[in-house]
Amino acid sequence: MAKKSIYLDYAATTPVDPVVFKAMKPYFSEKFGNPMSVHSFGRTAEEAVDKARKQVADFLGCESKEIIFTSGATESNNLAIRGVLKAYYIANKKKPHIITTAFEHHCVITTCQEMEKEGMAEVTYLPVNKDGVVKLADLQKALKLNTILVSVMYVNNEIGTVQPIAEIGKLIQKMRNEVSESSYPLFHTDATQAVNYFDCDVKKLGVDLLSLSGHKIYGPKGVGALYVKNNTPIKHIQSGGDQERKMRAGTHNVTGIVGLAAAIQQVKSEKLKVKSIFKLRDYLIKKVLKEIPKSYLNGSLEKRSPNNANFRFDDVEGESLIMSLDMEGIAASTGSACSSGSLDPSHVLLALGLKHEQAHGSLRLTLGKYTTKQEIDYTISKLKEIVKRLRKISGDVLINYNLHNA
Ligand code: PMP
Repeated sequence: MAKKSIYLDYAATTPVDPVVFKAMKPYFSEKFGNPMSVHSFGRTAEEAVDKARKQVADFLGCESKEIIFTSGATESNNLAIRGVLKAYYIANKKKPHIITTAFEHHCVITTCQEMEKEGMAEVTYLPVNKDGVVKLADLQKALKLNTILVSVMYVNNEIGTVQPIAEIGKLIQKMRNEVSESSYPLFHTDATQAVNYFDCDVKKLGVDLLSLSGHKIYGPKGVGALYVKNNTPIKHIQSGGDQERKMRAGTHNVTGIVGLAAAIQQVKSEKLKVKSIFKLRDYLIKKVLKEIPKSYLNGSLEKRSPNNANFRFDDVEGESLIMSLDMEGIAASTGSACSSGSLDPSHVLLALGLKHEQAHGSLRLTLGKYTTKQEIDYTISKLKEIVKRLRKISGDVLINYNLHNA
């Protein structure tokens, strides 16, 4: 039998949709101009970027001039946090306070930690409850008069839990109106894992800044966007070009930008596929929890992205699990693609209150629009075998150890 090739790591990245690829193709060799050039080649590229900007803006319910194209969500998040802090510092020469959560993506957490170390900000890392959701009361308690930025992710990349972004938006707006009538605190959300499945209308969410990425939505890698609401105090963080209204120096990734917009158009037109992904994911969770003893779901079942299942299994190491699954042709992960390779337990699972050994035993399976029932059935059957085998090995090791040390 031919070796299976089952991809269940759609939260790490997605294949480029053929429709998206077709839209991008002419911009590699045929329409290759630089949008900053004044000649016709440049104008053709500029028109493509303008059209893409309008499509992304329509999806987010904002104006074209509120979109900044970037190299991905990592850059968008860096620009949001560093750019807001820089603008504040230039105007006030004071160290402000910012709030984020303990389970953000590394590119947000590390940026905040660096800002703390560099003396640019005091940072509060909000806890999350055992379901993997931020509590409004905790945010309310953490807000201070000098809080200038709150950054809370929309959907967590490891456990898929959905945060109450619109409620947080309302709370922040209320605080702005009541306390200071100022533009602070600003509200940023990393919506990278939300775009496929959730409403990202920035007005409904009440956000000032929103990050997204092409390669999580069946678009190309190396392109993303940051929504920045009109009149938001923010400064550029990279210099040397007038692109993106001087907010992001560097030649436009025209092909990528066209692909990002085409991917967003596909998300809009394929909303119905969400239902079937959701059904398959629920089937997977129910079967695994029922058929594999001592297995648990990490994070809330209800407040969860339709494509995410994150399990832990007592007495099984996550890394061994994904390696064994890979040998059976199943691509899975323990958590964030950006931190795999690290032997540290996931900061997300620790934030849920799990012990180190529990956080080491996790497995993330993320489904996508090409996932089939046959693939899920095959994965469940292999998972059952593998967990049993690994438990037997760790049991044997323990018996030998005890005999040796008796
Ligand atoms: N934020 C979240 C929630 C993510 O899942 C990722 C990708 N793992 C990123 C940010 C970084 O995105 P990019 O790869 O586009 O830099």
